[in-house]
Amino acid sequence: MNNRELFLKHVAQTSLSPIGLEIVKAEGVYLYDASGKKYLDLIGGISVCNTGHRHPKVIEAIKKQADEYLHVLVYGEFIQSPQVQYAMLLAQHLPPSLDSVYFTNSGAEAVEGAMKLAKRATNRTQIIAFNHAYHGSTQGALSIIGDEYWRNAFRPLLPDILHLEHNSFQSLESISEKSACVIAETVQAEKGVYPAAPAWLKALRKKCTETGTLLILDEIQTGFGRTGMLWNFEQHEMVPDVLLLGKALGGGMPLGAFITDRNLMLKLTENPVLGHITTFGGHPMSCTAGLASMKILLEQDWIKQVAEKERLFCSLCIHPKIQAVRSSGLLIAIELDSVETNKKIIEACLGYGLLTDWFLFAPNCLRIAPPLIITPDEIKNACRLILQAMDDC
Ligand code: PMP
Repeated sequence: MNNRELFLKHVAQTSLSPIGLEIVKAEGVYLYDASGKKYLDLIGGISVCNTGHRHPKVIEAIKKQADEYLHVLVYGEFIQSPQVQYAMLLAQHLPPSLDSVYFTNSGAEAVEGAMKLAKRATNRTQIIAFNHAYHGSTQGALSIIGDEYWRNAFRPLLPDILHLEHNSFQSLESISEKSACVIAETVQAEKGVYPAAPAWLKALRKKCTETGTLLILDEIQTGFGRTGMLWNFEQHEMVPDVLLLGKALGGGMPLGAFITDRNLMLKLTENPVLGHITTFGGHPMSCTAGLASMKILLEQDWIKQVAEKERLFCSLCIHPKIQAVRSSGLLIAIELDSVETNKKIIEACLGYGLLTDWFLFAPNCLRIAPPLIITPDEIKNACRLILQAMDDC
């Protein structure tokens, strides 16, 4: 059996039609498959590889850490320098109230930890989330996912969940003294890139403060420069009570985090002690890779260039098949008339050596979220090939 047959036989599948590319090497914005074909990666591992694949400094940090220690003890017991250094760097680039970092293995686990913290901190049970929100696939995160199709097959899920309409001022009236937390994305990526209105986010912040409800912002997909600033919430002149990070946080290694005020985070240390525990969360290899990757992002001008690159993409994406283009930095959705058209275009792009994708709640939208290091020439080339793929379909 070849690797493809073994993949289909022994590796658990998540759909009946996986892309099934066998990547043998990845570097910068390019992927190479087993036949030697080169692909321009326009999705960056789904908003993970913001500094590109295998940045030399990230690889150097991983190798150095591998020479020192891998796993030594469950999270939170030993002082592990990569965790300490990374938590400090994150705190230095966040408002003072976000100074305590709980590292997890994934985005969904960060969501789980934050929901538990909110219940513990407020002694309330109601959790509010939004329609079309995506927060992960574990049972708790699934309970707050904003789409009944994905939730329904797995019921019963968490009780006392309320889903509201994103960007609706009226919906904010449902937040009350019963609400433990509101979990929101500042840009609803999986809906097909719909940013929240700044005035709405401010009103949400105000309502949460008035009712003593924790505001949890999920920047797992929008963090680390994706939308043109380090964190998307920075442009909204408001600060969440808890910030969720993941994806690019690990610089290509698995890592998530929920970040809050130290006094609030202490709620997880007593009654019960070990209120949230994990064996591998904040693995030294992941923290060292993420730390190196964040340092590179801060040193380089890539984040500053995001808006210009976004404009270039949007100005070139003009074609009769395109119904709309929505963007928030280098998170771009190209809306097509149907799921079938989008599937054909994704397939044709692959033929031209371009890796694109669709969005979970918007399968008729083409996902463009490349590593931030993509150059203007690579963007022009990518758009030329996307339009060619559209002509073909
Ligand atoms: N929140 C958002 C906004 C996400 O985009 C994702 C992943 N797509 C998650 C949470 C879950 O992260 P993970 O897949 O690492 O569990």
